Amino acid sequence: MKTRRPISINNSLVHGICNYSCRLCGINKAGYSGPREFQPYIVTKTLIQRVVKSAESGIHVRYIANSGDGEATLHPEFVQRMRMFGDMLREWDISAVPPPEVSVVTNGLRLNAPGIMDPFLFNNISLIISLPTIKPESYGLIMMGDGNSGEALLSKVLPGVEKAMEYRAKGQLSKLLFHISPPEIDIIRPDFPETIDYLTTLAGRKGLGEIELVLFPATSNRSGLIRNSVVRVDMYKDLFRRYNGHAVNGVNIRMKLVLKRFFSGIGEIADLVRSFRFPCLWNANFFIAADGSSICCNDQSASNPLGNILYDSIDTLMQYKEQYMPGQICAGCNQRPDRLKGSPEAVLFSSIVRFSIWLAAIRNRSSASGDSILKEKETLLTKKDTRTE
Ligand code: SF4
Ligand code: SF4
Repeated sequence: MKTRRPISINNSLVHGICNYSCRLCGINKAGYSGPREFQPYIVTKTLIQRVVKSAESGIHVRYIANSGDGEATLHPEFVQRMRMFGDMLREWDISAVPPPEVSVVTNGLRLNAPGIMDPFLFNNISLIISLPTIKPESYGLIMMGDGNSGEALLSKVLPGVEKAMEYRAKGQLSKLLFHISPPEIDIIRPDFPETIDYLTTLAGRKGLGEIELVLFPATSNRSGLIRNSVVRVDMYKDLFRRYNGHAVNGVNIRMKLVLKRFFSGIGEIADLVRSFRFPCLWNANFFIAADGSSICCNDQSASNPLGNILYDSIDTLMQYKEQYMPGQICAGCNQRPDRLKGSPEAVLFSSIVRFSIWLAAIRNRSSASGDSILKEKETLLTKKDTRTE
């Protein structure tokens, strides 16, 4: 593989099964025809083995997020799977690269259920809670498409949030982050001050001096699986100016764009552009479906696998991605990097991607004509050989 930057893996421990039905998600919608399954033991085991093996050869997997197209805590062997990742971290003795950060992204509905929080505490696993807003009506709308359901849902989620903050304050939880997601910008923006006020008040009460938030600049239509007309990219610059690094209710706020979780700097984006024929930000890292298929992050139906972790090494899977050119699943995708608009950064990146596609096409053409020259040579040689005989 050409990629040199540290890579990330999204592991869909549960695929197509969720206790929510967010408006910006294809799961639990009539049009969804993808897999509905819990990840089998052999896939999780092979994934971990491949991460270790790659690390021995110097490939740095920086981050594994057990997130994806389903609710991870619904897995019937959730506790055991977290222990497997914990064992990997405990037994890590590879000096070439550091161990990955392992996390779980959850909607939080089951956090307060008996035994669900324990594996985070005992296995050094980061806990990430998706909490787009604290306002009940907005929450219900985003997570279920029904404003009336918000209050009942939040009454189940918030005790888990409170407990997580308490563990984090005591140092028993390695990391706690909040995803302001699904990012329905027109709702989360006006609600943001109230969300911040609630979270900082709760954190202060639990003795937690800082909260960490991750924001998502662009909304996806999941490669055309759902209707999503929002096409702008929002970098939340005003919100960063107002809150990031500042204290509210005596609690410090740290904010990050999700891009920074996967690309630590401009050098890593340059590495993507250098290594990929079609440098799509959402296809740059791994997304492993429950059956081990390697898919694009937006391919919720897992309709276009690019290899499988059961049969291919991380090196080989990355090569498949590097060679990928926009195909059928990209046709209806509103996150096509060559069509991005909104912020100046997005427009600039979009032109770079268009140039990459053009370059890949030129190379294709010249290698194709190279092939035909070779074929012509072969034919001539064959004729010559025949004449000599
Ligand atoms: S976005 Fe996450 S929580 Fe919402 S329905 Fe999809 S998988 Fe479930
Ligand atoms: S453009 Fe294609 S590769 Fe990129 S996110 Fe959309 S579907 Fe995936």
